Amino acid sequence: MNEQLEHVKCLIIGSGPAGYTAAIYAARADLKPVLYQGLQPGGQLTITTEVENYPGYPKGTMGPEMMEDFKAQAERFGTDIRFGYATSVDFGGPVHKIVVDENKTILADTVIISTGASAKWLGLPSEQKLNGYGVSACAVCDGFFFRGQTVAIVGAGDTAAEEATYLAKLCKQVYMIVRRDEMRASKAMQHRVLNTPNIEVLWSHETKEILGEKTVEGVLLLDHKTGQEKRLDITGFFVAIGHQPNSGIFKGWLDMDETGYLKTTPGTSKTNVAGVFAAGDVADKYYRQAVTAAGTGCMAALDAERYLAEKGIH
Ligand code: NDP
Repeated sequence: MNEQLEHVKCLIIGSGPAGYTAAIYAARADLKPVLYQGLQPGGQLTITTEVENYPGYPKGTMGPEMMEDFKAQAERFGTDIRFGYATSVDFGGPVHKIVVDENKTILADTVIISTGASAKWLGLPSEQKLNGYGVSACAVCDGFFFRGQTVAIVGAGDTAAEEATYLAKLCKQVYMIVRRDEMRASKAMQHRVLNTPNIEVLWSHETKEILGEKTVEGVLLLDHKTGQEKRLDITGFFVAIGHQPNSGIFKGWLDMDETGYLKTTPGTSKTNVAGVFAAGDVADKYYRQAVTAAGTGCMAALDAERYLAEKGIH
């Protein structure tokens, strides 16, 4: 192994709105942050198209461009932004060790974890091909583009139920595709779905393929009760089958809930390890918005700055 050691005051892992916002604040506070971008530089917003709900962009912007702007702003104040993926950590000592790309060890006085979460996908080639062209994993982000149209959403948990009712307010018709003959969502959420006239629940249905060349035109389903395939004409296909926080490398070091979301002291970005902070979707399973991620990124940088000041690290 080619071991190189480097000591930094503030290491930021991840490059979504949380990571870049933390970088802007940390750089302006002269913490000389180093930020590793991870496997998907720019994070989940780089796989969306238009963003219309981020304050400050009255005409909207494109997700990938917005993340380029975040990056440019972080660089403007001197953030050292690097390609690289954190592959393991050791939070056992007063100085934290982070291994990047399995061959470079960074020693950091503070670490800001903003590794985000990844939407789970069905895994169909058509889903990948039409991602951003009618296929979306975020109804709150993209539902607006399907006003007055007919859409489908797959999933049966609280997120799917919540997003189905959100879409029903905007769209003419919403089909909710549920793979079993019952939903996992809470009774209250199910009640809301079943009492919304323009939501039709398709029980025991499996998505076989999303149809369309350039944009979504329909979906092919298999009805497990009858064994029959059927086509629905839709223009939007939403996937709401859960998210996976990108927290695997912190197992054993940081407190997390049963699904892997990092736990922070309420009202702060502090994890159970002093000097290690968490921001954005890796620590948030409820809001998951760019603006909330940016807000917690700011909190993490301020918490890191105070921690360093208290420790007398300059
Ligand atoms: P969940 O893991 O709770 O639910 C995922 C759903 O997707 C399940 O119904 C599952 O079906 C279905 N699913 C998984 N894979 C597939 C597949 N390949 N094809 C079809 N369906 C599939 O995720 P959520 O995002 O809904 O919720 C995450 C957590 O956040 C939960 O604890 C939830 O309660 C919470 N939450 C709370 C909210 C609130 O209180 N307002 C709002 C949103 C989330 P199956 O049931 O068959 O396994």
